[in-house]
Amino acid sequence: MKVIFVGAGPGDPDLLTVKARRLLEGCRICVYAGSLVSPEVVGLVPDECELHDSAGMTLEEIEEVFARAQHLGVDVVRLHTGDPSIYGAIREQMNVLDRLGIEYLVVPGVSSFQAAAAALKTELTVPEIAQTVILSRTSGRTPMPEKQELEHLARTESTLCLFLSVHKLDEVAAELANYYGEDCPAGVVYRASWPDEQVIQGCLADIANKVENAGIKKTAMIIVGQALSHDLPVSKLYHQHFSHGYRTADTEDPGGSS
Ligand code: SAH
Repeated sequence: MKVIFVGAGPGDPDLLTVKARRLLEGCRICVYAGSLVSPEVVGLVPDECELHDSAGMTLEEIEEVFARAQHLGVDVVRLHTGDPSIYGAIREQMNVLDRLGIEYLVVPGVSSFQAAAAALKTELTVPEIAQTVILSRTSGRTPMPEKQELEHLARTESTLCLFLSVHKLDEVAAELANYYGEDCPAGVVYRASWPDEQVIQGCLADIANKVENAGIKKTAMIIVGQALSHDLPVSKLYHQHFSHGYRTADTEDPGGSS
């Protein structure tokens, strides 16, 4: 018997991995994060599957489900939104499983920052402009470690993907504008890949107003950085003069980057 932490992806069931879908379709006990996992994804489990919404459960109650499944010798699918490794609160559950002597494994999922980048039709990395992507958040009830406060991250001018922060977008945008500039592009995607997805595009000066006018208060990804601009240097990977391990250029290599 084992517990399988499964990434449910951002919402659209077609964005589940083949492995995740197979596990859901054969699942007998499933604990899912009902606050974020799409009902369509949860709906893939068989009718006879025992379902537990972890949104209203304590860790002890989740432990009881794991322990009973161990007693029955039945695998549990533990379904987490996006990819379980990002703000998934899986460590504490794994500690419980270690204590109970239950084996576990993780099936990765498409994270919401990836679904948001897709909705924005953007590349998060751009040569010479942004070669680093930072996944972070603002402090909420979980405080930020001091060295990872937004101002420190902003100094790098990396592409910033902020989870769990849209309710504080006015503060966030004002702070980031000090480093990225007020005209730096910013995008907010509400419920990326859901049927009611909303994509809001703007710059640090106007994004908070636009998002407020759209009535978005939660379940949204904020992406900030010059990478979102459409008028930037592009990669030389496909340039006719650029050689690499799989293709020889027809003339001199311009010495560019990929
Ligand atoms: N493990 C998840 C993140 C969980 S934290 C992942 O990899 O995506 C929850 C936060 O993720 C939300 O507050 C929101 O910022 C973001 N989020 C989750 N699903 C989303 C979606 N479909 N669209 C936009 N943001 C989403």
